[in-house]
Amino acid sequence: MLLNIPRGVYLLALAFTESSMARIFDEDLRTGFGTRAVHAGQRPDPGTGAIMTPIFQTSTYAQEGLGRNKGYEYARGRNPTREALERNIATLEGGTHGFAFSSGMGCLDSIMKLLQSGDEVICAENMYGGTPRLFDRILANFGLVFRYVDTRDPQRVEDALSPRTRAIICETPTNPLMRLTDLGAIGEISRRAGTLCIVDNTFATPIFQRPFEYGADVVYHSTTKYLNGHSDMIGGIAIVKDDDLAARLQFILNAAGAVPGPFDAWLALRGTKTLHLRMKAHDANGRRVAAWLAQRLGEERVIYPGLNSHPQHALACRQMTGFGGMISIQLPGREDAARLLGRVRVFALAESLGGVESLACHPASMTHASVPPEKRAALGIRDGLVRFSVGIEDTEDLIADLDHALQGV
Ligand SMILES: *Cc1c(COP(=O)(O)O)cnc(C)c1O
Repeated sequence: MLLNIPRGVYLLALAFTESSMARIFDEDLRTGFGTRAVHAGQRPDPGTGAIMTPIFQTSTYAQEGLGRNKGYEYARGRNPTREALERNIATLEGGTHGFAFSSGMGCLDSIMKLLQSGDEVICAENMYGGTPRLFDRILANFGLVFRYVDTRDPQRVEDALSPRTRAIICETPTNPLMRLTDLGAIGEISRRAGTLCIVDNTFATPIFQRPFEYGADVVYHSTTKYLNGHSDMIGGIAIVKDDDLAARLQFILNAAGAVPGPFDAWLALRGTKTLHLRMKAHDANGRRVAAWLAQRLGEERVIYPGLNSHPQHALACRQMTGFGGMISIQLPGREDAARLLGRVRVFALAESLGGVESLACHPASMTHASVPPEKRAALGIRDGLVRFSVGIEDTEDLIADLDHALQGV
């Protein structure tokens, strides 16, 4: 009888019944990135043949009898739409299990629940603004100790290790200063010290950077950004390769409950189908806009890992296969930034990044307003800093827009 069931459907049924976690399909691992982006983790709906994963908008599942069900009991723990997304991104990232959350911060908060009071965490000092806010103003109250270091120099990470260090966490390239961390060096330090190595891969995406290949234990994303790519939902995802870590994260996900709704999971799943195409377009536009800005303003004012003038360009070429669409520029002061941002017409003045549309923001007053001014200054987030998320519009229109806007500065 088994022979009459298409393999995909059989695997789907297995995945649904065999475990309380969404498992990726082995056969997805043998295809190229674009094929996986479109298909991985999803099979036509066994009941109807629907080619797209349905939005399972349900809170609970009818059970057949006491202790007998189809593997689904309550939707905080498992939801098939969410599981399709989890399998899809886990496969793209090169992991084995994905756990989707209601936001990138909700995801990080749940990852940190792998730790205990008294544990120490070494954290890159130039992370997304919300990350130190979560750590210092909430999680520190529960006895976690955070040590911030400049992870551009792996020796500083080594020096910050103590017998209580349980995790090293970094983001590369960083937001908004595009600083890089050598993932191989950090992965090695983490392996030797026996700590968790946690990497925020939101900026590069699995298309351009594969932290698991350098020894990461947990890779996470704000799916709000490039993975979804259309600026129409908020979400996060954590991916792991280790079964024990996966079981612990599944427990936290269900117990703490920061899960996304099925519609948001479906939107993100729709987004990842074009990730490989969008990232190519972001990268092409990013390179051209950065080169134009460097010519217009002087390369010392433009921060983009793809420019020769970026101090870590060689590392970028080594551990990334593309540079993406995130560019920052240093203008003399806040007034110049305000004038530029007041004159853009294709770029919109907005927080966030990674969507098909181009955005511009002023980190000091927007994304990094929660970082105290002294700390901002120490990091180099000056009042004249402007950050662009270059979208996939026509390059000429983006450059013309910036040209016009810069004439007012
Ligand atoms: C946006 C962002 C986050 C936070 O994600 P949310 O989905 O906004 O909660 C974390 N890390 C990076 C690099 C981000 O850009």
